[in-house]
Amino acid sequence: MEQSAVQRLIELAKTKEQGLAERALLTSGALPVPWAWVEGSFGIRENGEVVYADETGQFQSMESLGDVRSNTLVTLFYAVKRNPELAYLLPPKPKGASRCTGCDGKGTVVDDQLVCGDCLGLGWGMQPNSAFLTDAFSLLRRACGAAKRGR
Ligand SMILES: [Zn+2]
Repeated sequence: MEQSAVQRLIELAKTKEQGLAERALLTSGALPVPWAWVEGSFGIRENGEVVYADETGQFQSMESLGDVRSNTLVTLFYAVKRNPELAYLLPPKPKGASRCTGCDGKGTVVDDQLVCGDCLGLGWGMQPNSAFLTDAFSLLRRACGAAKRGR
């Protein structure tokens, strides 16, 4: 079977020196996606599922870390920003979505340093804005399902 983009990046990451969290993720088949200000590391499995290992290498449930949907979207956003070939993991921009005014569609703010809090890095939003996260997350689940079937 052809290797997926996630699998290729995992094999590449295994050749580099890694912390305990990153090693635990790699061993379990997840690509580490560390956030600068979070101890431990989030990671992405081949099917797009986002998981988390703490700084000692223990897996923790996503639910124990706060908002699952925004942590999932932001982790995918960072992964794609670092590895553009993973863009297929992000939800596609739906018809009727408008350019995010918080970041002018870039997905980041403050000279590209921070994820835009309005769109969580997607660069677009849905109206009404309050439903955005729910919409993006359901699209994300569908996109991950498609990735699982197609790759
Ligand atoms: Zn934005």
